[in-house]
Amino acid sequence: MKTPLIRSKKLSDLNSCNIWLKMESAQVTGSFKERSIGQVCQKYAQQGAKKFISSSGGNAGISVAYMGNMLKIPVTVVVPKTTSQQAIDLMQQENAEVIVHGDSWVDANDLALSFVNSEAIYIHPFDHPYLWEGVAKIIDEVIEDGVQPDAVILSVGGGSLLSGISQGLKNHGLDVPIYAVETQGTASLNTAMKAKQHIQLDQVTGIATTLAAKQVCANAFHISQSEHVVGLTVSDQEALSACFNFLDDHRTLVEPACGATLSVLYDQKIDFEPTANVLVIVCGGASIGLQKLLQFVEDLAV
Ligand SMILES: *Cc1c(COP(=O)(O)O)cnc(C)c1O
Repeated sequence: MKTPLIRSKKLSDLNSCNIWLKMESAQVTGSFKERSIGQVCQKYAQQGAKKFISSSGGNAGISVAYMGNMLKIPVTVVVPKTTSQQAIDLMQQENAEVIVHGDSWVDANDLALSFVNSEAIYIHPFDHPYLWEGVAKIIDEVIEDGVQPDAVILSVGGGSLLSGISQGLKNHGLDVPIYAVETQGTASLNTAMKAKQHIQLDQVTGIATTLAAKQVCANAFHISQSEHVVGLTVSDQEALSACFNFLDDHRTLVEPACGATLSVLYDQKIDFEPTANVLVIVCGGASIGLQKLLQFVEDLAV
């Protein structure tokens, strides 16, 4: 669904430019995944899908459950034992079958893949052109609302958000810098950019679990090499502080995955022209609550 575009007074003043927040946190399922997963599920439904299979214990799985329920197509999500009860509840509320299997995502994903056939379709969380098509519509809406971005700031996990926003900008003939933000523990894109190679990290760490893809999709890596992408990494502490600041300033609770992007503005890490319109994708995230945010504070203090 169309989301609000808000000029943040606080962040605009702090960064001496115009900061525009695209509030993907306002989606029904709490994140921009409703755009990407929404598009892919609709396309496969038109092509005759009879079942959707996911292995995401996070926002992607929640959005597959939601879309399946809307489209009246049964959904099975296989998640590892590490998945939060909150995420499982959100999927079950949308009538998805949730199977808890294995200690890691790889185990859960293996079982999920064994269910796939010509009518039971696997929904990848970040690596498919349909996903990017759905995300590109964010830029259509921003233009429709009368804002021409001079730069975009967004978070990167597996790279579907980056892929879709890049495509959306291209659709409107906009060649502007994209600031691609990760936490230090999940820096698969930033590490690949430095190495100029599509590397895979040995491990991912920290509180921004939604960004924890060991390797970005090939398309995102390609974009980082061929277009104006500026890589940035922030600490878990910076991402977490931004979540609290944003909660105070905009009364919206977001995951550290989104706090990473916001921290770039709270910590004034980029110099913008005073007239610049900077578009910030507030990617959101449903795998968070106040208790969990406070728990992160305790965890990081030790
Ligand atoms: C999925 C997700 C991301 C990362 O998106 P990618 O397309 O995997 O790079 C960031 N924030 C939130 C809240 C997400 O759900």
